Amino acid sequence: MKEVLYVVIPCYNEEEVILETAKELKEKMNTLIKKEKISDQSKVLFVNDGSKDHTWDLILKLHQEDTLFTGICLSRNRGHQNALLGGLMTARQYADFVISMDCDLQDDIDIMEQMIEEYHKGNDIVYGVRKERKTDTFFKRKSAEMFYHIMKFLGVDIIFNHADYRLTSKRVLNALEQFPEVNLFLRGIFPLIGYSYSIVKYDRKKRFAGESKYPLSKMLSFAWDGITSFSVKPIRLILNLGILIFGISFFVTLYCIFQKIFGYTVDGWTFLACSIWMMGGIQMLSIGVIGEYIGKIYKETKKRPRYIIARNLLEEV
Ligand code: UDP
Ligand code: MG
Repeated sequence: MKEVLYVVIPCYNEEEVILETAKELKEKMNTLIKKEKISDQSKVLFVNDGSKDHTWDLILKLHQEDTLFTGICLSRNRGHQNALLGGLMTARQYADFVISMDCDLQDDIDIMEQMIEEYHKGNDIVYGVRKERKTDTFFKRKSAEMFYHIMKFLGVDIIFNHADYRLTSKRVLNALEQFPEVNLFLRGIFPLIGYSYSIVKYDRKKRFAGESKYPLSKMLSFAWDGITSFSVKPIRLILNLGILIFGISFFVTLYCIFQKIFGYTVDGWTFLACSIWMMGGIQMLSIGVIGEYIGKIYKETKKRPRYIIARNLLEEV
């Protein structure tokens, strides 16, 4: 039995590129079907993320002309991550495995076959990883690299230079359903799901047409979401800073007393200088302690699954 593949593509105002993307994907899918890599029931699922242009009309047209294409339309613009999740959750009901990619053909669709091979080798997740970012602007490249390093530093497990071009098996998507979080950062969640994975490298191309839907402001807020929904380390930094300043305040006190004894001071200076350091340290330390509790509450409210069962022998009898 050949397996059913769904390609999930979130689209926001992509009327300039969607037809070209559809054309290239159709060719690719037909080749894969001919080569018997995937079932002929496989489809391309476009997710219209509340586009303000003719994207949805084009999706409808594609669907009418060819059953290869199908789509879902969100009620409004919900952002890339939510749109992608909507697509994945829909696709998993019909597909054995899913590949997600952007609509702008920046991800090399020629590696799909390689990804499928990796999947057949028994990998549940195959991450598409960019070899280099020659086509991105210097600023985008540097800022993206910095983002990955900061994430790593903060203890968030993400795959370097991997965006949302990935293959996932049905059971990975079933596990994903158990993550009910609102601040979605899928790149951080997939490594958390576990199972065996593999990586396929590719060159990221230029955007075929249209503009990036991720201006700097959106990129920053995405990065901030990624950090704050996966790490409470910033809180711990405050605590550590508090401890440090409180510690320093003892040396400052010594210094002040020394100055006082040798008469280098004006009246009241010693008391003021000591108070500022001590109180500052104590306050920051207290905020850090309170923060620790808030961090715990934050983690609890996420209600993330504590484990995911990969195989249950009891069910295999
Ligand atoms: N996208 C979306 N909703 C949004 C913004 C973007 O569905 O609110 C889609 C967009 O259509 C594209 C993908 O997310 O398919 C990635 O966006 P883009 O290519 O603009 O980002 P970049 O590659 O520049 O990071
Ligand atoms: Mg893009």
